[in-house]
Amino acid sequence: MALELVGVSKSFAAPDGVGTTQALAPVDLTVEKGEFVSLVGPSGCGKSTLLRIIAGLTKPTAGAATLDGKPITGAGPERGLAFQKPTLFPWLTVEQNVAFGPRMAGKADANRERVAQLIELAGLSEFKDSYPHQLSGGMAQRAALVRTMVMEPEVFLLDEPLSALDAFTRMTMQDEILSMWQRLNSTTIMVTHDVDEAIYMGGSILVMAPRPGRILERVEVGMPYPRDRTSGRFFEIRSHVLNLLDFGSRRAADEQDA
Ligand code: ADP
Ligand code: MG
Repeated sequence: MALELVGVSKSFAAPDGVGTTQALAPVDLTVEKGEFVSLVGPSGCGKSTLLRIIAGLTKPTAGAATLDGKPITGAGPERGLAFQKPTLFPWLTVEQNVAFGPRMAGKADANRERVAQLIELAGLSEFKDSYPHQLSGGMAQRAALVRTMVMEPEVFLLDEPLSALDAFTRMTMQDEILSMWQRLNSTTIMVTHDVDEAIYMGGSILVMAPRPGRILERVEVGMPYPRDRTSGRFFEIRSHVLNLLDFGSRRAADEQDA
């Protein structure tokens, strides 16, 4: 499903109660059906706000967000959001949490095998009968991710879905997300703090900056999958993105001058 934002902005009441914080300056963005877009930027640049607007959980202050031409006015089953902080039902086991969506949709039986498969894939088979409080942060995050995956949404919105994982588990899960995306051809937007992750996964990368939150540049990755994290092209894109974020060689040179 093609997603389009036109002049979408968001202001919140400032913490001191006086005035407003512009979480997001007007954003224009088109994401075509089946595209995978990574969203990187420092904390507070409006990444989660942008994702929540697309999910229909936050109303923009101005502008319009549409999906296949239809205005986004609330949450919908075609859009699956995996939150930054895993939100599992504390009174349900891992298996019950993952099976919850299909059960609500009346498809519990059809999805039983898929639930087991995804739990296995997330490395949680041994913990399928555990409750969320018995899981580590990384396990909870993987459970929350597969809970969204099991619904096979047409639009997949991921807010730092792998941030609590160790580096190796993280790389494995990156491949799992990619293979799901390729299988379902779902339009995917993934927020991450990790520049390498953004490059490894995204067809393009939206680089954001804070105060006010805005998109600095859309960087086209233009590398076939699976990607080689050690290739020259990868390194080139990394340098470019880090420079946009002000963490690259430019800063190093400035500091030397200072
Ligand atoms: P990011 O996900 O990039 O870290 P957010 O989208 O969470 O950034 O936040 C962007 C800005 O908007 C921040 O300054 C944040 O404090 C502010 N903000 C986000 N949500 C709210 C809210 N519900 N109420 C007030 N301010 C908010
Ligand atoms: Mg966030």
